[in-house]
Amino acid sequence: MMISTGAPRKLESYVCGEWTRGTGDGVPLLNAATGTPVALVDSTGIDFRGALAWGRDRGGRALRAMSFHERALMLKAMGLALMEMKEEFYAESLATGATRADAWVDIEGGIGTLLAFASKARRELPNTRVLVDGDVEPLSKDGSFIGQHIFTPLQGIAIHINAFNFPCWGMLEKIGPNLLAGVPFIVKPASQTAYLTELMCRRMIDSGILPDGAIQLISGSAGDMLDHVTGQDAVTFTGSASTGQKLKTHPAVIENATRFTMEADSLNASVLGPDAAPGSEEFDLFVKEVAREMTVKAGQKCTAIRRVIAPRQHVDALIAALSAQLDKATLGNPADEGVRMGPLASLDQRDEVRARIAELQADAEIVAGNPDDVRIVSGDAEKGAFLNPVLMLCNSPFAAQAVHDVEAFGPVSTLMPYDTMDEAVELARRGKGSLCASVFTDDPSVAEEMVIGMAPFHGRVLIGNRRSAKTSTGHGSPLAPLVHGGPGRAGGGEEMGGMRGVKHYMQRTAVQGAPRLLSAVTGRWIEGADSQQGTHPFRKSLSELQIGDQLVTASRQITQADVEHFAEFTGDTFYAHMDSAAASANPFFDDRVAHGYLVASFAAGLFVDPAPGPVLANYGVDNMRFLTPVYFGDTLQVRLTCKEINPRATADYGEVRWDCQVTNQDHAVVAQYDVLTMVAKTWAET
Ligand code: NDP
Repeated sequence: MMISTGAPRKLESYVCGEWTRGTGDGVPLLNAATGTPVALVDSTGIDFRGALAWGRDRGGRALRAMSFHERALMLKAMGLALMEMKEEFYAESLATGATRADAWVDIEGGIGTLLAFASKARRELPNTRVLVDGDVEPLSKDGSFIGQHIFTPLQGIAIHINAFNFPCWGMLEKIGPNLLAGVPFIVKPASQTAYLTELMCRRMIDSGILPDGAIQLISGSAGDMLDHVTGQDAVTFTGSASTGQKLKTHPAVIENATRFTMEADSLNASVLGPDAAPGSEEFDLFVKEVAREMTVKAGQKCTAIRRVIAPRQHVDALIAALSAQLDKATLGNPADEGVRMGPLASLDQRDEVRARIAELQADAEIVAGNPDDVRIVSGDAEKGAFLNPVLMLCNSPFAAQAVHDVEAFGPVSTLMPYDTMDEAVELARRGKGSLCASVFTDDPSVAEEMVIGMAPFHGRVLIGNRRSAKTSTGHGSPLAPLVHGGPGRAGGGEEMGGMRGVKHYMQRTAVQGAPRLLSAVTGRWIEGADSQQGTHPFRKSLSELQIGDQLVTASRQITQADVEHFAEFTGDTFYAHMDSAAASANPFFDDRVAHGYLVASFAAGLFVDPAPGPVLANYGVDNMRFLTPVYFGDTLQVRLTCKEINPRATADYGEVRWDCQVTNQDHAVVAQYDVLTMVAKTWAET
């Protein structure tokens, strides 16, 4: 059991498949609220070169042998197992200074992120090991030479160097994408809160869900780890800009062009729209959001609102409302009920924040909260790292520097007035690139101008208003399906963003060649690749179907009576189908034409095999295009080719994508699309 009572335990690292302790004495880590020792951390003596090599070789090989869906199911199993054990993590988290609500973001937010990746991957990725990126690029007139981009997993290791503020989420949001991609990882949490990451890793390893070598942990310093990176590895870093820049310019990182994703200081802004006057719902929402961002995790969030930008005429009202809201933040030991805000992670961290407040005072005055006179209801006032929320006011933000440069990583925000919307946008941009921004407005023109003005400087922008008040996930919450990261000062990195994040651990390669050979590489049928005809493909189960199985149907003529019947039956009496003069006045047609949906319906009538069989359902079409007008008397024919087969790992059916091409009597393609069906894995003809 890891709960920190009694003598501090010495944290262990997990490298090359074994738990190991550093050979040094270890650095003591203290409870943030009480100052009592929690653990000792030390990584002296670890063979970092060996650890990276072992991960690449063992873990990479095992993960790459799995398909996307198999890896997604592995993540799901891991997420569910961790969720079962969540109370153990909450208990351990108290020592970091996190309240239950703070820890929810870190623990359940992190596990939820893993589960979100697992489910998105099974919905959005094929059950293959290679990803196709974009369409086939025709490179020759006769179709004998084409290009196709593909993604394959990097054959290195993902190295995650994390910050102290999210010991669980910081790891889980990164390992979801790298494991899905088929890349193993080694995580190095920040020492200050490494005991919680160590506990979670221990539980992950004990579960036996991940293959050997997929997971490694460094408790303590990173030693010479970065000396051994290769061009197939990917390093992610979250922390201070100064450390980030040092690591990003590490000689081995530069020499090998190792992928390096950095997330560092970010002076995120939130703007009160000019329409959101005191008394409006948006004003109240803004006050709540700013106060929440200042106090959740005691402001130790990379996405917290550091700069509050508001119309000059509302500044006094805003200070009054924010002060009242911040007064409700009851400070104390997060282990105690009723405590709304815990301490910072360490006394050093509090000293840092106080020093940053002093720097901000060059430009701004404190208008609420005293950083030196701490009011707590529990915890140790001397040894606990408590700090009141501090609101500052900078009356001349265009003449100021520190407020746009200094990140006080705690419960500190600076209010800045603006007179015009251009000024508001310009102030947001002075952060030189941030992870996120928000604007509170109910006016579409304000939303448009502010978001388009701020977007190039931000990875994410949230619009807050009355309509989304109850459902909004909030300014400071990075989400699995959305991009997290920001340009410039925020580090220039990008994480998550749904399946975009998986591709950060894969190589995009343009492959050129003949269709038959490219089809073999991608596992997808491509126009011009081999095809075979015989038994109707709808009579074949998933286990019998082959890529390239093809049906060429009989022909069917389209008559005026067909079109008129369809028009009357469906109610679609659009003039192009019904009125010869109007149709021929249209630049695209010479006369009345058949409905595109009639063409698609006749195509289905031509290609289906009606008797019960292994095809269970048609669940949609992709990329439907009507390419040539169909006139009365034209004759249609369909070529249906099995393009992609995706067996579901946990069901007795899978998805089959069919290339469907409809041509006329002149062999011109009139319609082209992918038909999507569910097909049973096995089927016995009766
Ligand atoms: P650091 O940059 O010092 O540490 C971040 C991570 O880098 C930690 O895991 C740390 O390990 C590791 N690290 C430090 N030096 C090296 C090195 N030479 N080689 C390899 N790894 C290294 O940031 P802190 O966590 O100490 O936080 C300091 C400040 O950073 C905060 O006060 C805040 O201003 C900012 N910060 C910003 C965040 C953001 O996303 N915007 C998030 C967190 C912090 P170890 O802990 O073992 O030293």
